[in-house]
Amino acid sequence: MAKAVALLSGGLDSTLAVRLMLEQGVEVEVLHFLTVFCTCSTRGCALEARKVSEKFAVPLKVVDITKSFIEVVKSPKHGYGKNLNPCIDCRLLMLGLAKEYMEEVGASFIVTGEVLGQRPMSQRRDALKMIDRDSKLEGLILRPLSAKFFEPTIPEKKGWVDREKLLGLSGRSRKPQIALARTYGLEDYPCPAGGCLLTDPGFSKRMRDLLEQGDFSINDCLLLKLGRHFRLDRATKVIVGRNEEENQSLESLARPGDLLLETFEVPGALVILRGEIKEGNINMAARTAARYSKAKDEPLAKVVFRRKDAENSRQVLEIKPASDEEIRPFLIGL
Ligand code: SF4
Repeated sequence: MAKAVALLSGGLDSTLAVRLMLEQGVEVEVLHFLTVFCTCSTRGCALEARKVSEKFAVPLKVVDITKSFIEVVKSPKHGYGKNLNPCIDCRLLMLGLAKEYMEEVGASFIVTGEVLGQRPMSQRRDALKMIDRDSKLEGLILRPLSAKFFEPTIPEKKGWVDREKLLGLSGRSRKPQIALARTYGLEDYPCPAGGCLLTDPGFSKRMRDLLEQGDFSINDCLLLKLGRHFRLDRATKVIVGRNEEENQSLESLARPGDLLLETFEVPGALVILRGEIKEGNINMAARTAARYSKAKDEPLAKVVFRRKDAENSRQVLEIKPASDEEIRPFLIGL
């Protein structure tokens, strides 16, 4: 029996690709890559992949590729898509790792849920061809959903897979996949297209701002998913929670050295000041905290601030809330 490694996002297309292979008697191991830029929560995505692996009783390996992926995002050889999505280099990274895994587990080819023409950057015919070549996997990547549009791959030529039973789907419509899912009794696929924040224009602006400043951490990337972001200077940002849930997440993501600010005795947002903790920046962060509180129209508001790593560093500042005109020039994205 032929064995394949399938890239499984947990979305519908890759799930169907695995199902089509199992139907042909191929032994499948699935590989799920996580990055900090998944639109579903990191845990959520892996959970979907886990559900699929359990449903089909196939072994699953989950790999967090955030570190290498960030290096790709910093300078992609093949450039970005419409936003900050380096899709071609991303696929090359994933396929390179999948190739290593294929060799490790003694599989003979790789299966993906890619559909010709579904994504403008990485799923064009020429891009897919280049990806096959540059990943040194020519003839070894089978895309069962669109196979009829491509030259037969090695697994088809060798008869491990029956080409006649592969599909000829293309384009952005997901209707055929949804219909196929129904015939397989697959109903629970909450992340149908898979998702990546780097395709989002607002998130990409924030990420670009981070890239322009040079050094950053995974924690900085996680913060980009939350709140409103303001850049005060090259080293310093203010991040404002938009609701209670975000306030709590900001508190848990704050690092030693960050300053946390919130209005005193008046409901408002939790604000993080990260970077140069100097008087001018503290004042601006405090005025921003006052702006996003019930005291925004008062002449003065009390703002309490403390260092994340020093609970006894609490101080109170009485300050004029910032106006929208004052803070707008500092706003990044969204
Ligand atoms: S959308 Fe994001 S995860 Fe998907 S290929 Fe592009 S960069 Fe990679």
